[in-house]
Amino acid sequence: IKIAVPKEEAPGERRVALVPEVAGKLVRQGHAVAVESGAGVGAHYLDDAYEKAGAQLVEKRTELLGGAQIVLKVQPPTEDEIDALPEGAVLIGFMYPHRYPERVAKMRDKKLTVFAMELVPRITRAQAMDALSSQATVAGYKAALIAADTIDRFLPMLTTAAGTIRPAQVLVLGAGVAGLQAIATAKRLGAVVSAYDVRRAAGEQVRSLGAKFLELEIDAEAEGGYARELTEEEKAKERAMVEEAIVAADIVITTANIPGRRAPILVTKEMVERMKPGSVIVDLAAESGGNCEVTKPGETVQVGDVRVVGPLNLPSALAVHASEMYAKNLHNFLELILTEEGGLELDWDDEILAGSVLVHDGEIKHAPTRELVE
Ligand code: NAD
Repeated sequence: IKIAVPKEEAPGERRVALVPEVAGKLVRQGHAVAVESGAGVGAHYLDDAYEKAGAQLVEKRTELLGGAQIVLKVQPPTEDEIDALPEGAVLIGFMYPHRYPERVAKMRDKKLTVFAMELVPRITRAQAMDALSSQATVAGYKAALIAADTIDRFLPMLTTAAGTIRPAQVLVLGAGVAGLQAIATAKRLGAVVSAYDVRRAAGEQVRSLGAKFLELEIDAEAEGGYARELTEEEKAKERAMVEEAIVAADIVITTANIPGRRAPILVTKEMVERMKPGSVIVDLAAESGGNCEVTKPGETVQVGDVRVVGPLNLPSALAVHASEMYAKNLHNFLELILTEEGGLELDWDDEILAGSVLVHDGEIKHAPTRELVE
């Protein structure tokens, strides 16, 4: 099978969908892997490493895509990329259909088969292809480092000849995949960490990392292990409890998300104003609107003496390992559609394929996207 990997075009995107190690595995499995020259440069995977792995380097993107049967991407394809693809090609990557409905329509009209990595069901069998989790792990780690780098104080306790330094108090709101990694990273740096999530089940995971879990008598675990939106009464209770923890913290890292919705506001402007001078908030939900009322996506905002950082695309900042993990997720996904004989077979009885297919055979298969586009 001819597998093609173009260079990512989106501004600020340094990741690449395939790293040389995984390219080599596909080549050894008998596939023809073609990579656009310079595709891995942003993540420090240089052309010669792909060549050594047995991949072919292609200068012209239209030529690369025109001959492809499977195309691997990180970001959704551009209109030009869709134009360059042959009818019936398979495209795999993050697709964000709600942001790019016109591209979905174009992919449908081109009769592409499109799998959206963010739609891979979060079931045990699919864990090795769960790109949301691998990239959230990267983001959570980096968020803790940004907080540590931004704040003008130590995180660990230090006993020195110049006196004893008290450890920093870190509060993590939202203890999903990213939140747990932020907790683990802040702990490793020596901070005293506490965390809160609307899913009670998160409590055990938080405690197992050596952090304190803030208890509230709400359990908002919904379908698929995700959170549901809180009622107005629950929101008020949550805010009251969370406010005291926010005011006591030196660093607040927020990661709360509800699938398909704007991120919930957990930190109001008034709460930021009550925080200690020099405190730092890192809002990982900036991409989906922010958990803090004053967050500006992609910027650092100062409110009084508190800085609120709203980073975008954190996985790209750790492009080496984010790409490696993502490429491994893709390779595991490819195992579902590549046969031992070196062919391509789509088994629609497989719930992972059926769940993650966005477009196939001239139809939009993902119902919420179909409603949006048609
Ligand atoms: P996410 O990115 O959608 O949300 C992050 C966290 O924010 C979640 O833990 C959510 O409960 C929390 N949250 C939402 N509203 C909140 C509020 N008002 N206040 C505080 N916290 C709030 O979630 P995620 O990290 O992608 O994963 C969520 C769940 O899915 C977890 O239980 C995780 O263990 C589970 N999961 C399962 C698998 C699997 O079985 N294969 C894989 C990945 C994740």
